[in-house]
Amino acid sequence: MAKRDFYEVLGVGKNATDDEIKKAYRKLAMKHHPDRNPDSKGAEDKFKEAKEAYEMLSDPQKRDAYDRYGHAGVDPNMGMGGGGGGGFADAFGDIFGDIFGQAAGRGRGGPQVYRGADLRYNLEISLEQAAHGYDTTIRVPSWDNCDTCHGSGAKPGTSPVTCTTCGGHGQVRMQQGFFSVLQTCPKCHGTGKINPSPCGTCSGAGKIKRNKTLEVKIPAGIDDGMRIRSSGNGEPGMNGGPPGDLYVEIRIKPHPMFQREGDDLHCEIPISFARAALGGEIEVPTLSGKAAFTIPEGTQTGKVFRLRNKGIKGVRSGYAGDLFCHVVVETPVTLTDRQKELLREFDQLTTEGGAKHSPQTKTWKDKVKDFFE
Ligand SMILES: [Zn+2]
Ligand SMILES: [Zn+2]
Repeated sequence: MAKRDFYEVLGVGKNATDDEIKKAYRKLAMKHHPDRNPDSKGAEDKFKEAKEAYEMLSDPQKRDAYDRYGHAGVDPNMGMGGGGGGGFADAFGDIFGDIFGQAAGRGRGGPQVYRGADLRYNLEISLEQAAHGYDTTIRVPSWDNCDTCHGSGAKPGTSPVTCTTCGGHGQVRMQQGFFSVLQTCPKCHGTGKINPSPCGTCSGAGKIKRNKTLEVKIPAGIDDGMRIRSSGNGEPGMNGGPPGDLYVEIRIKPHPMFQREGDDLHCEIPISFARAALGGEIEVPTLSGKAAFTIPEGTQTGKVFRLRNKGIKGVRSGYAGDLFCHVVVETPVTLTDRQKELLREFDQLTTEGGAKHSPQTKTWKDKVKDFFE
């Protein structure tokens, strides 16, 4: 089913002000609200449609995205971002939260409880540390009860008093048209208490921000962008709510030698053209010491040698990936007269030997010939 234009849904023009959009939405929400139209599927759909349109057009960022890209700009299923929005399953739960700018009370009485926000910490480590595992410590913000007021937020000698606006419930009942809704108390912000004289040390918050040291154990094989959760080490909750979590996000520094692709590693191995021609054993570095392998005579540039299990053992893999060595044949530079002399002699002998020494040159010359004939 094609989606209707959001402006059309709300019955407003493209240049409608925020106020006009809000008014149009309230009108539609009242008209189609399921409480008023029990058992009407049509009304429910219209209500949801209006709600979605309002959610998009009342958010300046989303409205901008919608104006530029249409539905593709804001539909979370269509990949253009637009962000946020936990779907519309709870369409009826938070309608008034949207209109009146506050989370409507869901509990019965008592102050509202909020979980603390999650925190993110970016930790940069080397490829070796990622491969072998790494234990470290990080400094993260933490919150302690204020020493002066012991967490009450009230100046010593005073104590918080019950909020008169909500009678200590943290919520107030508001009449909106024919609805009566619970809202977080605007005076005490849901705590149910007011500090007539706030503590000077913490400005009445009851908590002081400090730093603490956390030990972080990074498992061997971790990859760039992976996160480690440290439960309960985020920001503190409000009104006795649980704290958020801390996420340590791993960034792996670029390595001078190796590029990682999943559990595999890639590196370039420069070898002299004499070595490439003669073959022989070459030594290569790996993340766990050196390894040696034999290259055959006549190895060309671009040839890839695969060393099994010399890559990285991923966090969830049972065995290590491979190391891919990409051969680069190096042309010798800054030669002495003697070296040049030998090379000229060498070149003459090679040319006399013809195609068998330079199969690629032969093929190439044939192609050139074909091209001009
Ligand atoms: Zn204090
Ligand atoms: Zn209150």
